Amino acid sequence: MTFRRRQPHPRRFRVQPPRSRNPAARAAFQRLRHAHDLMHSGKYQEAAQQYQALAEAAEKHGLPQATPLFLQAGRAWFEAGDSKTGLASLQKGLNILEMYRKFQRLNVVGSRTQTELDEKGFAHEASVIGSYLERMRIDHDIRDLQFSREMRGSKLPAKCSQCGGSVIPDQVERFKDGSAQCDYCGSVIQRA
Ligand SMILES: [Zn+2]
Repeated sequence: MTFRRRQPHPRRFRVQPPRSRNPAARAAFQRLRHAHDLMHSGKYQEAAQQYQALAEAAEKHGLPQATPLFLQAGRAWFEAGDSKTGLASLQKGLNILEMYRKFQRLNVVGSRTQTELDEKGFAHEASVIGSYLERMRIDHDIRDLQFSREMRGSKLPAKCSQCGGSVIPDQVERFKDGSAQCDYCGSVIQRA
């Protein structure tokens, strides 16, 4: 007697693939792809606006994509030369994690954001995020930076095959088999 294997990947949040029958979900997915295309082709201002709108919509509906979308909007604003709006978007993305009490994730994602800013020469903005994280660690008693070992394991493709979003290996959620979940559309990303 055989048993059907359990689905290997639990659905952690509402996936909005192109095959979705819901027209609103399909439209949002197309807008997401469009935003990634703009970002990849260097149209940062337009990409920033698209990401920002998608992030605000995700936040309104309480979707977990809100944080990565705000962070991506922030990156696009910085690339477009608007560091003030960029910093506000980054901060917003991190605040949402704090609001949902995802402190460990906030610690990881926030540190990564701070490093990115530092590397791009935005020392002031990096220190703003750094101070925020320090305050957060004290407030919520987060003592050490714990980077999970499985996060650093196997290789992942550079982009999600579904929506085209960039995959940041130490930032995405990993499954036990080394595959990951796209931050933006929720698709499973197989190991490279
Ligand atoms: Zn995706």
